[in-house]
Amino acid sequence: MKKQELIFIPGPGVGHLSSCLELAKLLLDHDDRLSITALVMNMPFTPPVSSYTRSITASQPRIKLVHLPEVDPPPSDLLRKSGEAYVCDFIESSTPQVRAAVTDIISSLSNSDVRVAGFVLDFFCVSMIDIANEFSLPPYIFIPSNAGFLGLTLYLLERHDEISEVMKMSDPDSLIPGIFNPVPARVLPDAVFNEDGGYDTYVKVARRFRDGKGIIVNTFAELEPFVLRSFADDHRIPPVYPVGPVLQLKGQPHPELNQDQVDRIMKWLDEQPQSSVVFLCFGSYGSFSLPQVKEIALGIEQSGFRFLWSVRFPLSTSSPFMNPEDALPEGFLERTEGRGIMCGWAPQVEVLAHRAVGGFVSHCGWNSILESLWYGVPIVTFPIYAEQQLNAFRMVKELGLSVELKLDYRQDGDLVSADEIAKSVTCAMESDSEVRKKVKEMSEKGRESVMDGGNSFTSITQLIEDIAGNS
Ligand code: UDP
Repeated sequence: MKKQELIFIPGPGVGHLSSCLELAKLLLDHDDRLSITALVMNMPFTPPVSSYTRSITASQPRIKLVHLPEVDPPPSDLLRKSGEAYVCDFIESSTPQVRAAVTDIISSLSNSDVRVAGFVLDFFCVSMIDIANEFSLPPYIFIPSNAGFLGLTLYLLERHDEISEVMKMSDPDSLIPGIFNPVPARVLPDAVFNEDGGYDTYVKVARRFRDGKGIIVNTFAELEPFVLRSFADDHRIPPVYPVGPVLQLKGQPHPELNQDQVDRIMKWLDEQPQSSVVFLCFGSYGSFSLPQVKEIALGIEQSGFRFLWSVRFPLSTSSPFMNPEDALPEGFLERTEGRGIMCGWAPQVEVLAHRAVGGFVSHCGWNSILESLWYGVPIVTFPIYAEQQLNAFRMVKELGLSVELKLDYRQDGDLVSADEIAKSVTCAMESDSEVRKKVKEMSEKGRESVMDGGNSFTSITQLIEDIAGNS
């Protein structure tokens, strides 16, 4: 294989960017003839990515980052209507900047021994397939989520081509190919019920999946065998490459997290007995109403376990990390003193890796699920947004890898009681439970999958060979 350059187009925001760049690093580690240029979009309303991007280029010189010039953002009204529609609109408006950047890359390499071999596009960036086609380069799509989510979007497209109607909560259970159980509407992502652009965006994105040369998914064959097999049976779907778990084991940088905070948390964990602490953390955007924060506090207190709690409040309050004392039940801090600590943004990966952590109350974002599986920590499901309800449903009902707290929680109106929380936490913390055993087994399978000869390792090798074979 000659030296090859791939052009990565990550979605905006540090979450999508970091997943995409972890994939980039994985490909580069696999084959030293590859190099990668990633086009970085800076979207309004998202934290700056510069400290993260600096650390990436310092750690992997074969990744070059091109920061795209700013574009006029879509009207902010659209963000209120549908986050997905806003993001896709923003990405589409960056098309001329992407075209110009690609032209520059190709011309800068024209007299070298490096050939541009293809595009890897975050799934929100599928509109850039048109740019790949303009340059006659193969587009590969990257889904930082799981194969079940890909299955859902493809199912939605099929359904749309038959009945063209936004989904309703009252719809019957969906029979999604490869997903073992019929899926109740109440565990589907909010977007599929959204008439203001969310549903249309999902359908539009799913339609373009078929135009990809391949679809790369952050999962592994042992975790989602049935869904992955269902894709192989459908000739309209391009080859799917399960390459995960793609993890950011150094942790995700965040402006709210400093070294003092990390040291405080890790020192406290060091002092706790093995598997004695329950960790509560709800992703980049997970926050709760004040009544829900109170119930969570009472629930952990009632459970009697030690705890580390990353507390987040609604964006409508002055800061998502406002002083917790103002929201907690009276006397909570005194009663639980020495038994638990609270923090803002947590060093989640380090925490999950710590021997003191025995359970994880999680919003079931896919990265959090993969990280908890990697370290063999059972999850208690508390999904909040995006595809998290579906993840929670599958982790509990299909895979038996999590303890059910809620599968269908929605932020407006639902209140999970302290009793329910205490009961599920107690169940997850049991040392010899069936769920813990299964999680440990899956942890080993995930680790084996990315090792030389494992399924994901082989899939990455195949992907690189296929990209090289396109010329
Ligand atoms: N994360 C973290 N500290 C926090 C919250 C989140 O380090 O307090 C990290 C977490 O380890 C994971 C990512 O942020 O890698 C969240 O990704 P996920 O897919 O779980 O959820 P999202 O934030 O996309 O909803």
